[in-house]
Amino acid sequence: MAAKRHVIVGGGTAGWNAITAIREIDKGASEITLVADEAPYARMVLPYYLGRQIGESHVTTAGPQRLAALKVAARLGRRAARADAAGSKLVLDNGDEVPYDDLLIATGSSPVRPPVPGAEGANVHSFWTLPQARAVSGGIKPGSRVAMIGAGFIAFTILNALVSRGARLTVLEIAPRILPRMVDDAAAQIVQGWLEARGVVVRPGVQVTAIEDKGGAKVVKLKDGPPVEADLVIMATGIRPNLGWLEGSGVEVKAGVVVDARMRSNVPNIYAAGDVAEGPDRVTGAKAVHAIEPTAVQHGRVAGANMAGREVAYPGSLLMNIVDVLDLEIASFGAWDDAGAEAAVDLRADRPAYRKLLFRGGRLVGAILLGRTREIWATNDVGMLKGLVYTGKDLSAWKARLRARPQDIRLAYLATGTARELLPQTLLGGPSVPERDVTVNA
Ligand SMILES: Cc1cc2nc3c(=O)[nH]c(=O)nc-3n(C[C@H](O)[C@H](O)[C@H](O)COP(=O)(O)OP(=O)(O)OC[C@H]3O[C@@H](n4cnc5c(N)ncnc54)[C@H](O)[C@@H]3O)c2cc1C
Repeated sequence: MAAKRHVIVGGGTAGWNAITAIREIDKGASEITLVADEAPYARMVLPYYLGRQIGESHVTTAGPQRLAALKVAARLGRRAARADAAGSKLVLDNGDEVPYDDLLIATGSSPVRPPVPGAEGANVHSFWTLPQARAVSGGIKPGSRVAMIGAGFIAFTILNALVSRGARLTVLEIAPRILPRMVDDAAAQIVQGWLEARGVVVRPGVQVTAIEDKGGAKVVKLKDGPPVEADLVIMATGIRPNLGWLEGSGVEVKAGVVVDARMRSNVPNIYAAGDVAEGPDRVTGAKAVHAIEPTAVQHGRVAGANMAGREVAYPGSLLMNIVDVLDLEIASFGAWDDAGAEAAVDLRADRPAYRKLLFRGGRLVGAILLGRTREIWATNDVGMLKGLVYTGKDLSAWKARLRARPQDIRLAYLATGTARELLPQTLLGGPSVPERDVTVNA
């Protein structure tokens, strides 16, 4: 029998995890072709590269030797231009056709810039790809004035690095509060105060109208206040899944490629994973795009296992954002903004500590947590809250107590046996092999 031909489009987190899951299972029995316009690397570590905590080689997930060792035929620097679902072949940007038995769409997302004059000008950068990270890194000197447009999660992942590199930072956000898709008003206010006390200028509720040049510097014009002068502008104004190339393919697309619990699209031999996929949401049971690293890892592994012939059903991803900014830990999980949920809130006046638990009946459906990183309870509780939201444990017996004291999460976590339930759980039905130990048969 001819070896099965898997074609993976996109070599980011989802694509690479699919490849290693396939090889973990089939030990090299199939053909894998990777079509990717960039060599495999992890975007999530780019903030550490910017902060000079790691070098460029640590951003890479698989170099040419590793790809060859896993018997992956890599078509790097090439883009998928079109999927011919009826003919089971991929058409590349140079016209080459790559036939497949199954195809994985793992094309991730791209940054979006608002259509303001000057948005594409010199010294205006997105921070999404390695070349963009290089450009930002190369443009910063101690004392550089940096205007960050957008105060969402991605912007926050690079604040530490920018400050550690000596940048003088102004954060501009169109929404009335910072981190508008991650935390509520109360938490956003604490974070804003924390940043301001550490020298970061924070201006929510402002709309950028233009970015102009003035004698080598940039001037960010605002509809709602005085302009901001900067040496460098970073646009962190959202992302959009890379779906355009699927037009006319017959693959069902909503916010992302709609996939079932096996990460399969409406076309049975086409799978999708990561930022580009709209998969099961663990908390709501509906489908959602969760453009975060853990979802890309899990999607990739589940898609890869199914492509390799295992029947693996994915229990769904948990929306979570965790970021440490200048030693303040900020986290939110699941339905943290569910207006119909019952909320238990603990806001401390004496220190930056805030917690909000959201219940639907006896179930914790979402949470927000904020506290100093050095306060160990904050760090530990992040994991426990995540576990409680993920398992959907019945907390009816604990609810009154948690409503009165949302800090008491540990007792509820232990008493309900949540750790016992989580520990034996595996994504693919067995202990996973560390990536470096995945090999193929000679
Ligand atoms: C600065 C930064 C910090 C982040 N921090 C965190 C964090 O702390 N926690 C977290 O959970 N998430 C974080 N993320 C998000 C996380 O990196 C993404 O969710 C993750 O990379 C998604 O993986 P993916 O494989 O779906 O897509 P990607 O990693 O984007 O990979 C997709 C690949 O496909 C390629 N591609 C696209 N179109 C085509 C085409 N037509 N043909 C060929 N190739 C194509 C792309 O160029 C890319 O190489 C961060 C992201 C950034 C940029």
